[in-house]
Amino acid sequence: MGLTLAPHAGNRCVCLPNHLIGRGYTSPEFMNLLYYWQPDNYRRDRRYGFGYHLSQNSAIMNSVDNGGTIWAFTRRGDGRYVLAAEFLARRVTRNPAGYKYGKYRAWADTDRTRYFDLSEAPDIEPMVRGLAVRSNATHLGQSFQGTSAVRPLGVADAQALSAFAVGLPTLARVGFYPEDVLEARFLGEDVAGRVVRDVSETRIDYLYGRDTADRRVVREIPNPELFGTNDDMRIRYVMEQLKGGRDSEFRRVATELRETYAGRCQVCEFDPRIRYAQEICHVHHVVWLSRGGDNDRTNLMVLCPNHHAIVHRDDAPFDYGSLAFSFANGSVEALRLNLHLPGIA
Ligand SMILES: [Zn+2]
Ligand SMILES: [Zn+2]
Repeated sequence: MGLTLAPHAGNRCVCLPNHLIGRGYTSPEFMNLLYYWQPDNYRRDRRYGFGYHLSQNSAIMNSVDNGGTIWAFTRRGDGRYVLAAEFLARRVTRNPAGYKYGKYRAWADTDRTRYFDLSEAPDIEPMVRGLAVRSNATHLGQSFQGTSAVRPLGVADAQALSAFAVGLPTLARVGFYPEDVLEARFLGEDVAGRVVRDVSETRIDYLYGRDTADRRVVREIPNPELFGTNDDMRIRYVMEQLKGGRDSEFRRVATELRETYAGRCQVCEFDPRIRYAQEICHVHHVVWLSRGGDNDRTNLMVLCPNHHAIVHRDDAPFDYGSLAFSFANGSVEALRLNLHLPGIA
């Protein structure tokens, strides 16, 4: 069931009237899925700050690759079932072998994905029970356990959900921190051994321009009080990593990986250590640290500054099956060097 349509391909008839679509993004051209977000997992993700990634074990996730929608519902503490998110998938990739939250990862379009405000959400149970999707367990959530948590939706069901979502209040977007600057801070840019706590003004200018919002975030990030309550858990996590400095787990694993590759970029094999006796390649988190990623070796790779910059600029999904990045313009770049990433099960 692999749809390979590019977003907005051709002049296909879109049968859904615009006023029925939340913001006019979900389209019956693409596959729609219904997903039951286990309440515990929802609460964990909500507390931590949504990362705009969704991992799950069902291969049906692949049907939203390149433009489908995942409608996610969950159960509130008071027992009411509510719509939690309209998740516009850009790409679906495979996670490394043994990944704890499932084999497949959907990468959301961060501009168009909506997370709904559960506190004001209407009861969605009668709606879900009325869909063609099988859901006859006494407690609705029981119909959506294990790989049954994700189900394909027919066009009529997708339209019904779109109509249901019209005008639902949404949560404020999660702030994303400039990950490449964070990573530089975690590692310290001076590889001669001095821990660098502050990114220089010149480097911030270079990366983010003089007066951009990103620049402000870079400057303010050492001060968690400046971030809203929604991001508390995430910023605390990021700060914990920062504090590690010279002794941090990231620094230890990053140093080890640079040795493994003799300082070369895993994508293009650029070898500054060998050619210039300089250490300039970066260690990158596949799932960004600022979006919940960890310092496990399987989440890290060595990239030259150019590849690192484009991977971040593009928010390029990385697939552990093909060991390749896919970029928004359709380019795909596989790793030329890999001695530590595990591939898929
Ligand atoms: Zn490179
Ligand atoms: Zn990175």
